[in-house]
Amino acid sequence: MQRNISIAIDGPAGAGKSTIAKIISKNMGIVYLDTGAMYRTVALKAVRDQIDTTDRESLAKMVQDVDITVDYIDGEQSIYLNGEDVTSQIRTPEISIGASNVAVVPEVRIKMVELQRQIASKTSVVMDGRDIGTYVLPKANFKFFLTASVEERALRRYNEQLAKGFKDISLDSVKSDIEYRDKNDSSREFAPLAKAADAIEVDTTSLSIDEVAQRIVSIIKENM
Ligand code: C5P
Repeated sequence: MQRNISIAIDGPAGAGKSTIAKIISKNMGIVYLDTGAMYRTVALKAVRDQIDTTDRESLAKMVQDVDITVDYIDGEQSIYLNGEDVTSQIRTPEISIGASNVAVVPEVRIKMVELQRQIASKTSVVMDGRDIGTYVLPKANFKFFLTASVEERALRRYNEQLAKGFKDISLDSVKSDIEYRDKNDSSREFAPLAKAADAIEVDTTSLSIDEVAQRIVSIIKENM
């Protein structure tokens, strides 16, 4: 029986993780798990329940009754909150900030990590997030840490959001949201955003998606 392989891709918002993870997933025929979507779903539930996303105590309680599941339709991940498909509702700027806030709460992280590890135990997976190589899958077969300048990351997110139809955003507000999340994600106590000691770092600032993907896929294939 062939063993499952796991690939961890970490880095800050806008570094290109999800685009690269999707390419790897297609290229290698393995599942892509977007772990950020899970924290976003918890944030959506908090907003719906009118819980402040910085109210740690209420979030720790709320998350116990939250059922999050993922499914794949034509290779695309859909995410469900208590059975409801919320895949497109979690992509707003408000939910991005909320996700970074709820991700600080240990009870929230413990529940999400359990689900992530469960998925990785059943199948080969490429997972992207902030703590995959350091905490979720410390024994992942491959670990990558993608970075890019904050200006470049903000510009990428700004263009993405314009393409999705968000009109009242500015490049400055996208940049300050990213800076807020970078700081929040790197400074939290429990499983912060960090490069694992054995991760390969790729600065994507001046590289095209194809160049990054080619580099990463060839490292994986050469070392499998
Ligand atoms: O990757 P994405 O931007 O969708 O993640 C949203 C937020 O979820 C991040 O800013 C981060 O705070 C949190 N997150 C996390 N750990 C992960 C994935 C995401 O803390 N593994």
